[in-house]
Amino acid sequence: MSDLISLARKVTLKYKGDGVFLRSIISAQTGNCPEDCSFCSQSAHFDTEVEAHPLMAAEKILGAAKHAEKMGAMDFCIVISAKGPTPRIFNKVLEAVDLLREETTLKIGCSLGDLKEEQAFELADHGVWRYNHNVETCRSHFPNICTTHSYDDRAKTAYLVKETGMNLCCGGILGMGESVRQRVEFAFELKDMDPTWVPINFLNPRPGTPFEKFEMVSPFEAVKTISIFRLILPDKIIMTAGGREVTLRDLQAMGLVAGANAMILGNYLTTPGRTPEEDLRMLDDLEMPIRKDIVN
Ligand code: SF4
Repeated sequence: MSDLISLARKVTLKYKGDGVFLRSIISAQTGNCPEDCSFCSQSAHFDTEVEAHPLMAAEKILGAAKHAEKMGAMDFCIVISAKGPTPRIFNKVLEAVDLLREETTLKIGCSLGDLKEEQAFELADHGVWRYNHNVETCRSHFPNICTTHSYDDRAKTAYLVKETGMNLCCGGILGMGESVRQRVEFAFELKDMDPTWVPINFLNPRPGTPFEKFEMVSPFEAVKTISIFRLILPDKIIMTAGGREVTLRDLQAMGLVAGANAMILGNYLTTPGRTPEEDLRMLDDLEMPIRKDIVN
């Protein structure tokens, strides 16, 4: 294990240099999603504890963005629960993007589900620099996690994002019943898709979802998997995301030494994260600089 981590660290330093990118997200529209992703507490198919709310006003999104900026985030992502944005929601998101670009120095990301071609180019025109669109798991496992859309439906928008010139941010969730072999398969599929950012989430089983009784990935296994992803995806920004705290537990710092070089600061979409202060102290203790340079 220590050899694997040490190798992953060397690969990170060689391909990406030292330091960690900090990002922040907001669930700007939560719940009532018509899709049936079995891990997701925002699906309208399941009876979960999530408090659904419609799209927040742009001013409210701005308040959260300013807080993230103060805490040191370089990038702020507006996320909505949907298969894809309706024209009305899309226009409101654009208004929020414009406001955030005027009032903050943050790079703005979006995660709005499947996009039409014209929507993707419009986001890029409004200065959205990164689009998050996870394919969630490998192709062979996808039918076990969702029946209302396919892996290829997701992949289509991921490829469209690349055409626009926005940074593609595409990863998934580990611990959804996939085998170790399928995790490796997933990493190689992501390599083919060639995103700039690869978010690795760990399933934090949500009450009321079909996956509520799944066992969580152990901290040790999570660290090993991060290292293996780093070896397969040496030149990507690998970001530990949802489920990081509850999965890695006391091995938080090890995740960064093992190959991750970005993380989400603060809360996730439907679950709370550690406080930003705790994460900033961890980076300080590790003597890892916070990076804000532009990546393409
Ligand atoms: S993961 Fe996204 S598309 Fe799937 S149910 Fe949740 S919000 Fe909807």
